Amino acid sequence: QHWSSHRVRNTFIEYFKNLGHHHVASSPVVPWNDPSLEFVNAGMNQFKSVFLDECVSPHTRATSSQRCIRVGGKHNDLAEVGRDTYHHTFFEMLGSWSFGDYFKEDACVMAWRLLTEVYRLPPSRLYVTYFAGDESLALPPDLKVRDIWRAIGVPDERILPYGLRDNFWEMGLVGPCGPCTEIHYDHLDQTASLASQHVNTDTNHMIELWNIVFIQYERLKDGRLRNLDHHYVDTGMGLERLTAVLNGCTSNYDTDLFTPIFSKIQQLSDGCDRYGGRFSEDGRCLDTAYRILADHTRMMTVALADGAFPEQCYPLQKIMRRALTIGCQRFGLGREEESLGKLAEVVVDTLGQAHPELTQRLHTITRIITHEETNYHTIKDSVTHEWNKLIECRPELSAVSDYSCRRIIEGVSEITPHIDTWRKEGQVLPGDVVFNLYRTYGFNLDLIHELAGVYGLKVDQETFETILEKYKINTRNEYLNKLNKGRMVKEEELLDSLRSLGLPTTNDDAKYIFE
Ligand code: ATP
Ligand code: MG
Ligand code: MG
Ligand code: MG
Repeated sequence: QHWSSHRVRNTFIEYFKNLGHHHVASSPVVPWNDPSLEFVNAGMNQFKSVFLDECVSPHTRATSSQRCIRVGGKHNDLAEVGRDTYHHTFFEMLGSWSFGDYFKEDACVMAWRLLTEVYRLPPSRLYVTYFAGDESLALPPDLKVRDIWRAIGVPDERILPYGLRDNFWEMGLVGPCGPCTEIHYDHLDQTASLASQHVNTDTNHMIELWNIVFIQYERLKDGRLRNLDHHYVDTGMGLERLTAVLNGCTSNYDTDLFTPIFSKIQQLSDGCDRYGGRFSEDGRCLDTAYRILADHTRMMTVALADGAFPEQCYPLQKIMRRALTIGCQRFGLGREEESLGKLAEVVVDTLGQAHPELTQRLHTITRIITHEETNYHTIKDSVTHEWNKLIECRPELSAVSDYSCRRIIEGVSEITPHIDTWRKEGQVLPGDVVFNLYRTYGFNLDLIHELAGVYGLKVDQETFETILEKYKINTRNEYLNKLNKGRMVKEEELLDSLRSLGLPTTNDDAKYIFE
């Protein structure tokens, strides 16, 4: 029996609604009120202030399917994307919450029943984990939860203890956190003694499905944990993983959330083979390119729909450039006509029913993508020209073919003539140079620090941040103007289009959003 992703999502929401949970819409992936986050990374983000006792939730139980992006900060999965079967930059997190209402026992029973009785997963494929305690934080093992699983009927060899890394969930470096218990799925149907060795080892055949967090603390800036006044349940399960499991697919990419995107890529390509589901050792096979391109198209479509702009959001810019490079180099996309925009349309087809924002903003999404696509090809042509000149004098560099390597080399060659001067004058890499490396060449701050270190220079980060701040605010309006292709836009019209995008209309609001 086929489980479409729609049916999987609806079944989850209906189940929790029937148990008295209020269905809350996904919040945008661009956080409105949390400068500590670049993108929403979990379903609980929109409830952060409830957990921290800063406001009261109008409902004691809630459920949602939250759009999440994990490309930076504490949760960053970019390196895995396309190379394994189950990490994406953008994914949906099916969630359920209790705000000071029920606690551990009900949460575990609800989860177990949904998986085994409603979705009908065989218990012989499931493993559960619990928090083993931690001495440095003086936290005891969560034996209560272990006993709850025993009472539910899970055999001891399927109940496994893990430490801080896997079973103590934290939203970021600071914020709400607590011990958790997780449910994992064995794709290989091995014996318990074999399978249990693979839990939390990053293999494609033993997958973490559902995390049930018991939020009880706030992690403070100084690293200490503060006890919260109330206790909360916060659960999250990846829609893509669950859909794969329910359809007997060993890879998330074989589900209806991805296959239509693959078909479209193939159709637009210059005669490439169809997606074949292969995984190669070095991660350079065409199927990996298919997966990365499809994943990145989903991410950019959602981020753009939710009000992120590539020029003001470095991770988004990076993902878009990567998608453009792969699309162009591996599939021959984008030379004659816009292509990534067409892929975005397919993404909206697959997700629009559950996330109407995508459908409403499709026009804006494709306009921004097309704008970036045109830019990309213009920049690429001039870089190629410079690059060829460089290769003439340094032929060994011809081995470097990746577009991003070229950008790095270009950035480095721009600063090298001045290094001696900076060494003499104060030993810092000036803020405007840092900004140029960041903005024009796409270096991130870690890379810039590393590079400066090589030359024995410090980074003038303060000036850089001031310039960046100004830049972000200034370019917001310019960017919208550019989108209108040089047409003069009246102030009211601009404000209207900002509002229709759900974007801030004053620079004060903007500060938070583009942080
Ligand atoms: P993993 O250990 O597989 O990286 P996680 O422990 O980082 O997952 P949680 O923070 O516990 O994940 O998030 C809750 C659930 O969200 C996970 O159990 C998983 O089903 C899903 N999930 C997390 N990260 C991703 C991702 N990058 N892509 C798809 N689903 C994800
Ligand atoms: Mg992870
Ligand atoms: Mg994990
Ligand atoms: Mg987890």
